[in-house]
Amino acid sequence: MARSALQKCTVCAAYGLSETCGDCGGMAQAAGPMRFSPEDARADLRRKLKQVGTKEWVSNLPSPEDEEE
Ligand SMILES: [Zn+2]
Repeated sequence: MARSALQKCTVCAAYGLSETCGDCGGMAQAAGPMRFSPEDARADLRRKLKQVGTKEWVSNLPSPEDEEE
């Protein structure tokens, strides 16, 4: 049983509620797959680009002290 009620046809891309397309009889899969993977394969690369962890990166972070003055 599919977790999501809304199904999307893999053949004609029609939406429906059954795992068989009502339009063309093709196989339908749960619509709306996750747009972003929780396992971000490029996270390491992006951290390197932003130089996360360096003193420069830390000094650029917003801090509550900036708002008090
Ligand atoms: Zn279809």
